[in-house]
Amino acid sequence: MSRVYNFSAGPSMLPLEVLERAQREMLDCNGSGQSVMEMSHRSSEYQAIIDEAEALFREVLSIPDNYKVMFLQGGASTQFAMVPLNLGNKTKTADYITTGQWAKKALAQAKAYVTANEIASSADATFNYIPKVDKGMLTPNADYLHITYNNTIYGTHYNNMPDFGDATVVADMSSSILSEPVDINKFGLIYAGAQKNMGPAGVTAVIAREDLIGNAMDITPIMLRYDTHSENGSMYNTPPTYGIYICKLVFEWVKNLGGVKAMNEINVEKAKILYDFLDNSKMFKGTVVPEDRSIMNVPFVTDSDELNKKFIAESKAAGFINLKGHRTVGGMRASIYNAMPIEGVKALVDFMAKFEKENA
Ligand SMILES: *Cc1c(COP(=O)(O)O)cnc(C)c1O
Repeated sequence: MSRVYNFSAGPSMLPLEVLERAQREMLDCNGSGQSVMEMSHRSSEYQAIIDEAEALFREVLSIPDNYKVMFLQGGASTQFAMVPLNLGNKTKTADYITTGQWAKKALAQAKAYVTANEIASSADATFNYIPKVDKGMLTPNADYLHITYNNTIYGTHYNNMPDFGDATVVADMSSSILSEPVDINKFGLIYAGAQKNMGPAGVTAVIAREDLIGNAMDITPIMLRYDTHSENGSMYNTPPTYGIYICKLVFEWVKNLGGVKAMNEINVEKAKILYDFLDNSKMFKGTVVPEDRSIMNVPFVTDSDELNKKFIAESKAAGFINLKGHRTVGGMRASIYNAMPIEGVKALVDFMAKFEKENA
């Protein structure tokens, strides 16, 4: 068996131990004589799996008791509609900070349901920084403020959370969930698609403060109401059963590594290896202002499109795949999520150094 180093932004690498455990349990999970894929979601065997997934998720992220956890479908993109439909029903206004494509999509969708104000944006510099925002810029009495906590495409992250006063902060954490400790109490609602750092595509986790659930607009389809899912333990209809099971294995893996704090220490070390190389290279450079750099997604460029192309082709041939940057940025991007081992980052940096020498 030969496995590549996969730097995909998502779907992305999963921990090898998780895949191996899933393989062992594929035909007979826990003595049930069935694959998880074949289980009724109403069976006691499956109930134990989803209960454990939620318990582990709560444990690793220290989710307070007054927050509900939901495992939904439709990707993070469906949250772009669920958030305004469920939370935007008091003053019907909301604030958005646009820090990339996903934030822009969230804003565009919100405009269908509420008065959505773009209070700050980093579009003027191809989203290579997080705009400075203070309380005074927020719309008084807005129902919520939406931010994208880690910007997968542009490689920025809220390293210093602004003081948003008593705004209800909603955060898209699709590409940073489980990578670092987060004070959940600072947020009204957090959502994350699984396929970046948590499991396979098809599951979206939502963490919502209880008082924000149950006030959906009348037009909201039943399947898009948070109360539908929270009142039914994510089992109003058939949940993405196998995906939730893989998420459970990932939560266990994070816990056994020492939790999100230990995970974060490893991630910081990994990112430092790559950023230190970029900061000292004469050929490659990072595209993001240093204080807003993400430790999950690292975009970088050379000053020549030809060289970028050559690097992407040669790195791929050497077993480093999916290093091509997003089409809106060009260049390269290394996504180094939790599952990327430190050896993978070291090997990439060695390869980059060799490429730089050969092409100087
Ligand atoms: C990938 C991603 C999305 C979109 O997720 P889907 O599950 O494809 O809808 C949204 N926001 C962020 C920050 C992402 O990284």
